[in-house]
Amino acid sequence: MNTERVALFDAHNHLQDDRIAGVLGRVLEDCRHENIHGFVVNGTCESDWPRIADLSQRDERVLPSYGVHPWRVDRCSAAWLDHLRRQLDTRPSAIGEIGLDRWMREPDLLRQEEIFIAQLRLANERQLPVTVHCLKAWGRLLEILQSETPRAGFLLHSYSGPAEMLPRFTQLGAYFSMSGHFAHERKHAQQRVFKEVPDNRLLIETDAPDMPPPSALRPYSLEDAALNHPANLAAIYRFTARLRGLSVDDLATTVAANFKRLFSTAD
Ligand SMILES: [Zn+2]
Repeated sequence: MNTERVALFDAHNHLQDDRIAGVLGRVLEDCRHENIHGFVVNGTCESDWPRIADLSQRDERVLPSYGVHPWRVDRCSAAWLDHLRRQLDTRPSAIGEIGLDRWMREPDLLRQEEIFIAQLRLANERQLPVTVHCLKAWGRLLEILQSETPRAGFLLHSYSGPAEMLPRFTQLGAYFSMSGHFAHERKHAQQRVFKEVPDNRLLIETDAPDMPPPSALRPYSLEDAALNHPANLAAIYRFTARLRGLSVDDLATTVAANFKRLFSTAD
């Protein structure tokens, strides 16, 4: 089998982003060319959920995921949780991107936790998988996930935590996605962490249009060169395969199985 033709899956991106809206048709074609069969498209706040729903109706590869991102907790309406419930009524798919962020400027941590926990509870009520964003809050994240464990599983996207915490998160049902951002030379410590992620918990993501990989892993570009094209996913697979000493074929087979297991609502 041609290694390039094994189905690829992007565990985390933001195709609804305004910054790629003008070229989305071409971008989706490029993804087809790279044999990308599915993407989890993550919401960040109430205002981008309808665009994601619309995208998922137009392209069967899109798995819509709805949630309030920790950077957006100050923009929620009073009725945000009702809106989220209604959005999930239309297609019960996935909840994300949600979480904790102590890296951002002046985080409102209490509000972040309140909104995060409400969404974790909703995920369990609906038996949906969850995508978690976490920066510089790993200890607190573990505590919260221990008491509010998402029973349908969860993804720690672009996992930047320590290797020592992998077993504890894995025990709770975590998957970990490698992003092209970690392919930069300065991120060698995180590359070592990703060598240790268990085979059956590994996913790959672009986080497009953010988190561009190094230029050698960027065959596709957008007009704004600082942005990340989602078809660069294939290059991130190649990097990860080398990192873990696997063929791209074997990696893609493993990742496809993991993707379908966690995001079984994609079918
Ligand atoms: Zn994201």
